[in-house]
Amino acid sequence: MLATDLAVVVRTIESEDDFAETRLEAIGFIFHGVIPEPGKKGKGRGRATSNLLHFARCTKLERTPATEDRLWFRSVRVASAHLDEHVGEGRWSWCKNCQREVTQKVLNEL
Ligand SMILES: [Zn+2]
Repeated sequence: MLATDLAVVVRTIESEDDFAETRLEAIGFIFHGVIPEPGKKGKGRGRATSNLLHFARCTKLERTPATEDRLWFRSVRVASAHLDEHVGEGRWSWCKNCQREVTQKVLNEL
């Protein structure tokens, strides 16, 4: 890994290859769903049930439609802050599978 990569805490997953590689690395967290465009208040917003955050290793990510927005996050803290800001508080949730693995230790990590 390049030293400059260490600064990256969030990035958009651009392609299927990128998606596959990110899942293979199994580091961090992957969000998929609909990220509303800025200024489009209330419209085009997804429901919390379809805006999901996963551990990158989650097997459920296999069934993610390629049409959805996908983001990678280094940590839960980054993910939660970013999603609250860009998707909206209460408009995203944890994948049911992954939620069981979310412990205080995970929440505390940077
Ligand atoms: Zn999951």
